[in-house]
Amino acid sequence: MSDDLRITSVETVIVDIPLRRPHRFARVSMNAQPVLYVFVRTAGGITGVGEGVVPAGPWWGGESVETMQLVVDRYITPILHGRRVDDLHRIGRDINDVVASNLFAKAAVEVALHDSWARCLGVGVHTLLGGLARTSIPMTWALGTEPAPVVVEEALSKLDAGLHHSFKLKMGAQEPVDDVARVVAVTEKLAGVAGVRVDINARWDRLTALTQLPKLADAGVEMVEQPVAGPDLDALAEINHALPIPIMADEALRTPSDAIRITARRAADIFAVKTTKCGGLRASMEIAAIGAAAGVPSHGATSIESPVGTAASLHFACAAPGVTWGSELFGPLLMAEEMLTEPLRYADGHLYLPDGPGLGIELDPDKVRAFRRD
Ligand code: MG
Repeated sequence: MSDDLRITSVETVIVDIPLRRPHRFARVSMNAQPVLYVFVRTAGGITGVGEGVVPAGPWWGGESVETMQLVVDRYITPILHGRRVDDLHRIGRDINDVVASNLFAKAAVEVALHDSWARCLGVGVHTLLGGLARTSIPMTWALGTEPAPVVVEEALSKLDAGLHHSFKLKMGAQEPVDDVARVVAVTEKLAGVAGVRVDINARWDRLTALTQLPKLADAGVEMVEQPVAGPDLDALAEINHALPIPIMADEALRTPSDAIRITARRAADIFAVKTTKCGGLRASMEIAAIGAAAGVPSHGATSIESPVGTAASLHFACAAPGVTWGSELFGPLLMAEEMLTEPLRYADGHLYLPDGPGLGIELDPDKVRAFRRD
């Protein structure tokens, strides 16, 4: 058993997965999602996989699949060779001695170690995280930055299909006054049938937020995600105290230390926790626990993961008691190709935890080959 857990090889592969339609953020959009898969193989013949992914390139947090591949291949892989996959804490410490920051790259490796370890034991990854708090998670759908009629039509078709009951609108691509008018129009059309949340992706300044956000609250928007720059906790706290609806911290929240600072200042009422930006499953569990202890619920947020990263985030969201504000783990639904041999199950506005060892999924090797970037 002991030797079976030893790591014999680490491989990284970049794939570009086509999307069903372009996905737009405040300043960039994408037609395909680049994803880095990290495969960790053990002496016992088990292969675990983790995913490194950011939404449409380095604008969000500085990392991209290309930087992640370089950091993993050149600096992290030599640390992993010959180590046991269950030596997580010491491996993590050794990686941090060599690589600062780069939390997205570290997350890909950390998830692959968990997947390998759980497969070796024949248990689900959630077991390694302390067991289940739930077996499925509600899912919000992200609407784009298109004009109000286009967005309303998409929302109504999702509601009719029974797929989603709440929506998140991306803001920040237009002048704030026009953007607010667009969101108010959408919110009024959906009043009484679906909740509307907005994500400004840190694109506004303090004064814009303080003058524009009350209009969204008056229109019935139920939550505002990260209106101002991540490091500006003073402004986030001021806005949260001034606004009658909750603020969710995303760009401001990457580490457990961030979580402590945010709760101490009541700078946000909800945490957006991504296993990617937080450096993996363990730190995500810590952040959700800090939030829960401070009365701040967590939301299972996304970096537009393929089904591999989505399954990892789902194991976290189902294992962490504090993830009581649902999720947005819709990445695979944006993709035009199924990357798994058996797709993840989405039904009734929920995503369901798969059975089986490790992450509970199997990548389709033909699809990896087809979309591999060489
Ligand atoms: Mg966000």
